[in-house]
Order: sequence, then structure tokens, then C-alpha cells
Amino acid sequence: MVSAISTYLGEEANERHFLQCNAAAEHCKAIISWGSCASWGCVQAARPNPTRATQVHKVPGIANRPIIKVPGCPPIAEVMTAVITYMLTFERLPELDRQGRPKMFYSQRIHDKCYRRPHFDAGQFVESWDDEGAHKGYCLYKVGCKGPTTYNACSTIRWNGGLSFPIQAGHPCIGCSEDGFWDKGSFYQHVTDTHQFGVEANADKVGLATAGVVGAAITAHAAVSALKNAQKKGGDE
Ligand code: SF4
Ligand code: SF4
Repeated sequence: MVSAISTYLGEEANERHFLQCNAAAEHCKAIISWGSCASWGCVQAARPNPTRATQVHKVPGIANRPIIKVPGCPPIAEVMTAVITYMLTFERLPELDRQGRPKMFYSQRIHDKCYRRPHFDAGQFVESWDDEGAHKGYCLYKVGCKGPTTYNACSTIRWNGGLSFPIQAGHPCIGCSEDGFWDKGSFYQHVTDTHQFGVEANADKVGLATAGVVGAAITAHAAVSALKNAQKKGGDE
């Protein structure tokens, strides 16, 4: 098992680095790309990628080994442990999604199991930091939460032995486990380019959606929910 990211050190040094990666992988049952760096390139591969950082699955010659991506910045400790434990216990690789991530941890979005989801559905949003909605624990979508487009287990397993996770601490998910998250605009700009797929959608289904139908459904849902909420409030008064 190897975890690596290659950065450009010159043609000769880079060639040597690629050979080392291949040598390390040669007798492996599988390669595990730990974290968003090894899986996607993360910050050093962000545009314009001055060091030509190369994620593991793009290292020349390495594609003939199964690669398991365990992205996250960092990945959740229990997820890392469980992937290895699964392989040792069952002597097989975990089932992977189309992007090579173990389905048991990456098949649902943060948004699908987020405890603030009822507020999203009710159109109750934090509009600005430290407003009344923030104090009431409303949904962080409008202040940039990437939970609707991020596949990870943070909202179920959480962090620090299940104590909390970023959204529970009052900060939006920044999508750290997704490919190219540094290049997707501001952490505090809300997402507009995704579907409202429902809680049973998984990464494969979403990935198979055609670009033509991907629109502003989340935004529309949020707007309609907010409108209904405002109408309800008006009716109550
Ligand atoms: S948008 Fe973010 S805070 Fe709101 S329900 Fe989804 S994951 Fe939770
Ligand atoms: S909540 Fe989002 S940004 Fe935070 S660790 Fe999980 S996937 Fe990464």
C-alpha cells in the first residue's frame, strides 16, 4: 500500500520518482491513496499547478494495480482504519464507486445525513455570520456549504471519536474530499450547479447525470423553501 503525490523536480528526478512509486507498488495487493493529496492532488495541484503535482492514479505505469482512493483533507481516521481492517478481515477489496472510493464511506453526500437538513428543507438558512439563524443552528447552504456536492462520511461518523464535525461547529463544509476543491471558487459561495437527488442518491447516480440536466435545482429548492417559510410566517402573524 502506498500513499504518494509526485511533484515536478525536473525531468530526470521526476522519472526517478515515478519509478520509485512503481517499485513500491509492484508487489502490492492494492494501492491506497490516502487523503485528497494522493487521491486528487489537492492544494499543490490547484491551478496553475506550478510543480506539476501528479496524483497517484496518474503516475505512469501504476494503473495496473487496483487503486483505492480515501480522500479528505485529512481523511477520517476511522475510515482509514476500516478500509484496512476490511481488507485484512475479508481478504478482498471494498466495493468502489466509479471514482475509486469505497462505497461504504463515500456513497452519500454530507447533505444526505446532515443534522441541519431539516432546516434546509424548511428554508431556514444562516444568511450572514453571527446572525439569528447562525445562533439557532440553521442550514449553512447560503454561506457556502458544499455538503450538497460532497461525498464523505463526516455527517455520520463525525470527527474526534464522533464528537463533532465542521458543520456542527458552525462552519460550512468546504468539500475537502472532492476532486479539485481548491479550484471550485470561494469556500463561501453557495453551490448552484447540482441536482436535488434525494437522500438515496449515490455518487454513481449523480456522476451519471448528463451535464444538460444539471442546473440550479438546489438553489431553486432553497428559494422555494424560503418562500414557503416566509409565507407561513406571514400567515402566522
Ligand atoms: S447545505 Fe450543508 S448545512 Fe445545510 S443541510 Fe446540507 S450539508 Fe447541512
Ligand atoms: S465536512 Fe466537508 S470540508 Fe469538512 S472534513 Fe468533511 S468533507 Fe471535508
